[in-house]
Parts: sequence; C-alpha cells; structure tokens
Amino acid sequence: MRTAISPERLADPQVAAAEAEIRKCVHCGFCTATCPTYVLLGDERDSPRGRIELIRAMLESDAPPAAATVTHIDRCLSCLSCRTTCPSGVDYGQLIDEARTHIERHYRRPWHERWLRAALPAILTRPARLRAALALGRLARPLEPALSAAGLSRLAALLRLTPTRAESAAARPPAPPPEPRGRVALLQGCVEPALAPQVRAAAARLLTRAGFEVVFVAREGCCGAISEHLGRREEARRQVRANLDAWAKAGPLDAVIATAAGCGTMLKGYGAGPRPYDILEFIAQVGLPPVVRPGAMPVAYHAACSLQHGQQVRAAPPALLAEAGFEVRAVPEGHLCCGSAGTYNILQPELARRLRDRKAANINRTGAEVVAAGNVGCMAQLAPVLAAPIVHPVELLDWATGGPRPAALGPSDGVRPVPARPA
Ligand code: SF4
Ligand code: SF4
Repeated sequence: MRTAISPERLADPQVAAAEAEIRKCVHCGFCTATCPTYVLLGDERDSPRGRIELIRAMLESDAPPAAATVTHIDRCLSCLSCRTTCPSGVDYGQLIDEARTHIERHYRRPWHERWLRAALPAILTRPARLRAALALGRLARPLEPALSAAGLSRLAALLRLTPTRAESAAARPPAPPPEPRGRVALLQGCVEPALAPQVRAAAARLLTRAGFEVVFVAREGCCGAISEHLGRREEARRQVRANLDAWAKAGPLDAVIATAAGCGTMLKGYGAGPRPYDILEFIAQVGLPPVVRPGAMPVAYHAACSLQHGQQVRAAPPALLAEAGFEVRAVPEGHLCCGSAGTYNILQPELARRLRDRKAANINRTGAEVVAAGNVGCMAQLAPVLAAPIVHPVELLDWATGGPRPAALGPSDGVRPVPARPA
C-alpha cells in the first residue's frame, strides 16, 4: 500500500515504524475472515484491511481524526488475530497502538469518555486503589445472588472473583529449592494478583517444584499494557522504565515470567531487561515436574488472544495439560476473541457481550468439566456464562504435580460426574 505521510510526521520513529507496516499490506483481505469485529458486523471499516486504510488516511492528514474513524478504531479488540493470518507479515499491533496514540493526542472525546479513559488506568494500574475498589467488592459479595437475579451477571462474576483477605495474603514465593537451576522473577502485575491471587501462588509453587528460585521484585508495577492500549503512551513508557529499574536492582535474574498473557505480550515488547516468558511457555521449555496426580478430567482449553496471537504460544499449553493427564478438548472458533481484551468489555460492552456469548456457547459445546484460560481477563469475562468452572492452566498443572486442588473445582475429587464427549 502506498502512503503520503509528511516527512515531519515520519521523523517520529513510531510513526515511521507504523508506515513501514502499512506499506506491507497488499489488500488481499485474508485477515477479514478471522477478525472478530468483521465477523460480527460485516463492515469493511471494522476489518483489519479497512482499519489499515483508515489509519493511513488519518496519519496522512493534518486535520484531527474524524469521529467515524475513531469509532472503527475503538471497536478493534487488539486481539491480533489478523497478525496471525496475514501472509505479508503486517505487524498490526504496531499499527493499532500508533493509531490509538495519534487519536489520544489529536482528537477530543466527549467528557464522559475522557473521564472513563483516565479513570481506568488510574484505578487498575495502582494496586492500592485497586485493593480499595476490591475491598468494596468484598463488602458487596452478599449481594451477588441479587445481582445475578437482576441480570447484572458480569458484576456478580467480578464479586465472585474478588479474593478473600486470606487468599490475598497467601501469594508469597515459597522457599527456594536447595540447589536452584536458576533465579526467576514472577511478574506481580496489578490486576491478576488482586482478582485471582491463586494463579500466582500456583505458578510460584510450580516453578519452585521445577527447580527455580522465585522472587517477587520490590517496586515492580503494572507492565504498561492498559495505558498503551488506551493510547496513553507516555504513561506506559513511565511504567516500563519503572519496571526495568526495579529488575535491575533485584540481583541476577534468568527470566521474568508473566502469568497473565496480556502482560507477557507487553513485556516482550520492552526490548530490554531480563528475558520475558509466559509461564506456560517457560514450563514447556524447562520441563513439567513429575506428575503425581494425573488430571483425569476433560478440559476445554481457551486460548487467550494475547497468548496465541500476541505471543504465538499455541501448542505448549494444551500439550502441558495433556502431559499432566487431562483430556484436552478443542474449542470451536478457537481463534476468535472472547471480548475481554483488556478494558474492551468496559469500553465496548455490547460487542464484548456478543463475543463472550459466542465464545461461551462454543466452550459449553465441548462438554468439558473445567475450562482453562491463561489470562485473568478471559476468566472474568467468561465465568458468568460458562457451564463449567474456569481456572488458569497453571492451577491444573500445579495440582497434577503435587499442589492443592484448585478451589474453583469444588471441595474434592469425583464429586461431579465427568460429562461425556458430545457426539
Ligand atoms: S486486532 Fe482483532 S479486532 Fe482488531 S483488526 Fe485485528 S483481528 Fe480485527
Ligand atoms: S491479510 Fe495482511 S496483507 Fe492482506 S489485507 Fe490483511 S493486513 Fe493486508
């Protein structure tokens, strides 16, 4: 695709990088079939190819972005299914991040949108504020049945995910093995340890069992993904610099490991610091500890977009679950996003609901007894509409190799009958 972006604008390396990606696009349209918003809406402007054209026109123009352009860019999930599909290797992630930054700098949104977009990172990326919000959630837990009955199932599910104080306090690294194979930082992040601390606790046990010393690095914070995807690039860069500083002061680290796939994708874009991994990618590389309690139940593996498209980690999670004894059932339309997509389900609730219901119907069709998803956003998004409980795969791997049974599965083995695989 030819472009006519001004030399002044191309002096910004981020714009130049985006322009290089635009030029790779040959308009073939292969990406449209795998784009969730095009599948739902059938509008070219809600497809990757259409959005690339809108981004090109926006970056070429000296005028503020048109409201219609902003609408179609805002509807993009940043799921990167298009990047996986594209035969020309267009790095659509680079493009959409630059488009969002450009809109943030040059387009004035209505006041209520500006307020919401400022409030989301201000609350979600600051652990103290998030903890305060979750404390309110804990107080509201008794209201969960009433909320569900009133049709507010997403809010009810968030309350269900709100940890108790005991669960929050348990998330500390175990004592290291006598002769560790290496020393790794387990990213503390901001949202996941507050909503689902059992995930980090399971990951820490599994890594220790695999022979590694696990550290939680002081003064580490949000990875920056939430701000980056809202177009708040300067804020994201501050968060990246703070994390690089924190790791530099933490002593030698062989790796930094994320349990939330969205964070892992962001870490892999840092270009500095200890080598980043998703927890499942890392365990696949260093080897699963011996299985002492084979899974023996059907699991539907939901591939988070940030893992399968953002990091191209596809085979390792189901292979690890199978190695741990679980019967892994494939989810139809597994390439499509569940609608969580960071803060998308708050900013685009109607599209997010349609994608969630479509994904849940596909998962429920597998008849699996448990659902595994490697991203806390997917877990919160899908929990209200699934027939089976949802956990992080690392909880199942920890259980199979000697850890506790995931609390979401109920009190003991064999309480519920294993559903038969549908015909
Ligand atoms: S990132 Fe996802 S929603 Fe956005 S254009 Fe690509 S496939 Fe479509
Ligand atoms: S698949 Fe790639 S080259 Fe083809 S239209 Fe989509 S982004 Fe462009």
